[in-house]
Amino acid sequence: MTNYYRAAFALAFLLLAGCRTQSQTMSVPAVPTLSVVAAPELVHSAFDGDRAFADLTAQCALGVRPPGSLGHTQCLELIRQRLAPNVDKVVLQPFTYTDPARHVTLHLTNIIGIINPNAAKKVMLFTHWDTRPTADMDLDHKNQPIVGADDGASGTAAQLELARVFHAKRPAVGVILLFVDGEDWGPGEEKMYLGARYFAAHPGIYKPDYAILLDMIGKKDVTIYREGRSQDWQPELNAKVWKAAADLGYGANFPDSVKYTIGDDHVPFHEAGIPAIDLIDFDYAYWHTLGDTADKCSPQSLKAVGDVMAKVVGDEK
Ligand SMILES: [Zn+2]
Repeated sequence: MTNYYRAAFALAFLLLAGCRTQSQTMSVPAVPTLSVVAAPELVHSAFDGDRAFADLTAQCALGVRPPGSLGHTQCLELIRQRLAPNVDKVVLQPFTYTDPARHVTLHLTNIIGIINPNAAKKVMLFTHWDTRPTADMDLDHKNQPIVGADDGASGTAAQLELARVFHAKRPAVGVILLFVDGEDWGPGEEKMYLGARYFAAHPGIYKPDYAILLDMIGKKDVTIYREGRSQDWQPELNAKVWKAAADLGYGANFPDSVKYTIGDDHVPFHEAGIPAIDLIDFDYAYWHTLGDTADKCSPQSLKAVGDVMAKVVGDEK
């Protein structure tokens, strides 16, 4: 049966059923059918995908944001200003890195937003806010810096909106929203993850019980598989995230299998004894190219990841 005939048949049945109900109202009580067949509504968080997407485009509007650029300086201020009203405290963690090959000393800053600073249990979400100085996957523009809509702005945007979510409904535990600098310096892994390395070596009183990295999570129809190292190191934390995604109806965005094994900011955390997993959609054709722009990303993707993070953090006791 085609969908057309199926629909016509169903309509005819409903009309007949309606007539019969009408003719029998005197003797048979009406049966409440709608409340019986309605599916249970999924309870998503207050995460506003459009507002998060506006945080993404605002970063991109500053242009490229590698350390040392004007966009980098302006982006630090943008994050600080949008974060501060929604957390108890913002702490800046400045540090320097000297790149011997380029003969340059970078002035870098990790940004730490803290909610419930006195709570014994602390969970962390983290992301990088800098962008790649070289489009090394873009054959025609290898030496040009990228805008980094997905690779830089997406995780930052999600965390800025999550601060608003947690401000409206305060979690029971301490929450640290960390924005690390110098993730995408390089090329070469020894020159990357600079902010994550610095924080992992100097967490001070902000050392979390665990940390979840959001990197490249804004692509349209975002699809996040379990990352290999995360699964080896923290299978239970991974399971918690994928269960939250399934419970919220985001199974299509979070397929429950391992696909890539990736070097990222979670590695220095793990090496420093901080349990950490990486949420990343690595099937991104515009990775480290000039094509990594806001039109490749979507509010729906930010909301899917934001809702799952709001649930994971909100469920903590
Ligand atoms: Zn990158």
